[in-house]
Amino acid sequence: MKEFDYIILGAGCAGLSLAYELDINKKLKDKTLAIVEIRDEYKRDKTWSFWKVIDHNFEKCVIKSWNNFSINSELGSHEVINKDFPYQTIDSGLFYKTILNQLTQNKNIQFFKNSEQLNLENSFIFNSIPSNNIDRSNIWQHFKGIEIETSGDIFDDEIFNLMDFGCEQRDNVHFFYTLPFKKNKALIETTWISKMDDKTLMDYDIQLEKYIKETLRIKNYKINYQEEGAIPLFYPKNKIEKNKINIGSAGGMTRLSTGYTFLNIQEHSKYISNNIEKIKDKKIYHIGKKI
Ligand SMILES: Cc1cc2nc3c(=O)[nH]c(=O)nc-3n(C[C@H](O)[C@H](O)[C@H](O)COP(=O)(O)OP(=O)(O)OC[C@H]3O[C@@H](n4cnc5c(N)ncnc54)[C@H](O)[C@@H]3O)c2cc1C
Repeated sequence: MKEFDYIILGAGCAGLSLAYELDINKKLKDKTLAIVEIRDEYKRDKTWSFWKVIDHNFEKCVIKSWNNFSINSELGSHEVINKDFPYQTIDSGLFYKTILNQLTQNKNIQFFKNSEQLNLENSFIFNSIPSNNIDRSNIWQHFKGIEIETSGDIFDDEIFNLMDFGCEQRDNVHFFYTLPFKKNKALIETTWISKMDDKTLMDYDIQLEKYIKETLRIKNYKINYQEEGAIPLFYPKNKIEKNKINIGSAGGMTRLSTGYTFLNIQEHSKYISNNIEKIKDKKIYHIGKKI
C-alpha cells in the first residue's frame, strides 16, 4: 500500500484546480499528493462560462470574453451592457493541458487510475467523484451544445445570447444559449430545467437543428465539437467523514439557481490551499452569495 499526505479522487475541474492551487502556492514542497483519475485521455469535453466577478488562475485558457449580452423572449430581444463583470469562456482542453503540464513537473505528485494501491486510511482525501446515487426525479439543468462553423460571417461576436426563451417549453423551462466565439463560429446550446426521468425532452439534436435553421436562419454549417451534460440543481447527499472533504459538484459547489460551478470551484480550491495545514479543523466551506 502506498501512503500519501493527500489524495484527490477524480481529476476533472475541481480535482485539477485544487492540485494546481496547492502546487503554485508551494503547499506540496514537503507533502505528497496522489491524484486518482479514471479517464484515459484528456480532451476538450466542456466549455466553462461564467461572469468574472473574481480573479482566477486560468486567464490564459479564456477563449472569449464579452461585455454585452441579450435575453430573448416572445416579447422581443433585450440587450444589456455589463462592463464591470465580463462573461468569460474557458476551453476545458486548454485548461487540462495547462494544469497537467505544471503538475507532471512536481515529483511529489503521482497519478493513479484507481485507488487500489493507496492507503486511504492515513491520508486526507479530497473527493470529486460523484455519488452513484442519481436522483433523476429531482430538478436538473440538462443540455446539449454544438460548436458550429459557417462559411460566411454570420454572428455578431461582440454580444452573446444568454437565454432565448422563444422556443417550445413542453411544460418545463427551456431556452437556447448562443456564444459567438468568432463571426463564423458559435457554441449553441439547448438547455432544459426539468426532472431527468422524462426522456422526451432529450431530442437535443432535433431541437438544435430546428433552432439553427428556423430561428437563426443558418442553412449551411458544420459541427466542430459537441458536449452534453446534466447539472444537479440540488445539493448532493454525501456522508461526512473526518479525513475527507468533497469538492466540485460532489461538494455542493454548484449555484442551484443557475448551474454555475466553475468559479465556486476556484474559490473552494483557494480556501483549501490557504488552510491546508489545519484543514481537518476548518469549518466546511459554503459557496458565497455573489458567484
Ligand atoms: C458539459 C458541461 C458543461 C458545463 N458548463 C459549465 C459552465 O459553462 N459554467 C459553469 O460554471 N459550470 C459548468 N458546468 C458545471 C461544472 O462546472 C462542471 O461539471 C465541472 O466539470 C465540475 O467539476 P467536477 O470536478 O466536480 O466534476 P468533473 O469535472 O466531472 O470531474 C470529476 C472527475 O472524476 C473522474 N471520475 C469519475 N469516476 C471516477 C472513478 N470511479 N475513479 C476515478 N475518477 C473518476 C471523472 O473522469 C472526472 O475527471 C458544466 C458541466 C457540464 C457537464
